[in-house]
Amino acid sequence: MEELTAQCRSCQRCGLAATRTRVVVARGNPEAPLMVIGEGPGAQEDETGLPFVGRAGQLLDRMLESVGLDSERDAYICNIVKCRPPGNRRPTPLEMEACRPWLQEQIRLVDPPVVLLAGATAMEGILGVKGGITRLRGQWREWEGRWLMPIFHPSYLLRNASRDRGSPKWLTWQDLQDVTRRLKQVRP
Ligand code: SF4
Repeated sequence: MEELTAQCRSCQRCGLAATRTRVVVARGNPEAPLMVIGEGPGAQEDETGLPFVGRAGQLLDRMLESVGLDSERDAYICNIVKCRPPGNRRPTPLEMEACRPWLQEQIRLVDPPVVLLAGATAMEGILGVKGGITRLRGQWREWEGRWLMPIFHPSYLLRNASRDRGSPKWLTWQDLQDVTRRLKQVRP
């Protein structure tokens, strides 16, 4: 993992290398049973070199905490692309493809039985499924011997603050409770 991190930090495989400040590889526990995959770094992540540390990341931490999971101890958190797309645009299919070997290697090394796909880009990057996060969130998928759960991206939840029954936040909380049940099954 240390070698992967070091090599990834000097990657020039796609155009995002030209505009990044730092390569954002991961945070959390490489031995955790849960991997969280998001889209790509934002401004704060680009500055700090750590994924999910801005407002969306703080919300993710709080939501994980609400179901008894510590984001540093119980999860390994990374993104589909490791460098910030300018202006926080979505990464292009070519950028996702170029970055894929890093993610593939992270998955191989961490070997998580359960993976959370945060947002449509993560779902597209891993499953090749475009759009439909509203329909597909909360549904388990088996993929390469792992359990995958697509959820809303925390930045979407920041824009939809309601916690009412049926709201995106409420649904995500149901999804995360389901994730803890699955984690207990696979790692009792
Ligand atoms: S986004 Fe990925 S492939 Fe592109 S330069 Fe950064 S680490 Fe390399």
